[in-house]
Amino acid sequence: MDFAALTGALLAASLFAHRWRSRRAMVWLSIFSLGYFGFYRLGCVCPIGAIQNVSRAVFDPSFALPWAVLGFFILPLLFALFFGRVFCGGVCPLGAMQDLVMLKSARAPRWLEIALGSLRHVYLGLAVLFAALGARYVICEFDPFVGFFRMNARFPIWIWSIGVVALSMVVGRPYCRFLCPYGVLLGWFSRFAAKRVTITPEDCVVCHLCVDSCPFGAIRRGGAEEAGEAAR
Ligand code: SF4
Repeated sequence: MDFAALTGALLAASLFAHRWRSRRAMVWLSIFSLGYFGFYRLGCVCPIGAIQNVSRAVFDPSFALPWAVLGFFILPLLFALFFGRVFCGGVCPLGAMQDLVMLKSARAPRWLEIALGSLRHVYLGLAVLFAALGARYVICEFDPFVGFFRMNARFPIWIWSIGVVALSMVVGRPYCRFLCPYGVLLGWFSRFAAKRVTITPEDCVVCHLCVDSCPFGAIRRGGAEEAGEAAR
């Protein structure tokens, strides 16, 4: 059931992004994803946490990796290969939660965004290392959203979670852009995407309004103006 829901949501996100080009449809899909994968399924299984199960299985042959977890890990990456980061656009409950609480996004200097963005790679490396050693699942332990989904977390994690959600109100998707380890993998795969989101290239008058107004800093002057590019 969960895998069917994930497949359906990814197909819908691909349709909304590439065929319909509808932000409104994507927002409704985000709300569904947050409700189903977040609050109903309590944030588990999720592709982000699945990094750890897959890492452990690679380094520990005795570890039994459930098919559902493997499927959740692989499917969004496969879609990224064909359609770009549609998982982030409308399917990930973590991304949806950040989007839905955002009031107005402050812009940080480019150098700061690049420096903070490198944290994701460090976090990915640490998560793989700890999981491979069978020591800890740090992605799950420090997930700032799962406490809200389950209404249950340790006190320090509540502080961290409230801090991240508060930050998400004034900075567009901070967890995605500066911490998410799965976003790193999606970024790698989406570089080879067969279809890429462009900003109405036939109508573009190069006014750069989209560059100035994108809350995620995802559109750059003179660059490939692709949604999600900055999160790579
Ligand atoms: S970057 Fe990570 S947290 Fe953000 S939407 Fe993508 S997978 Fe979800």
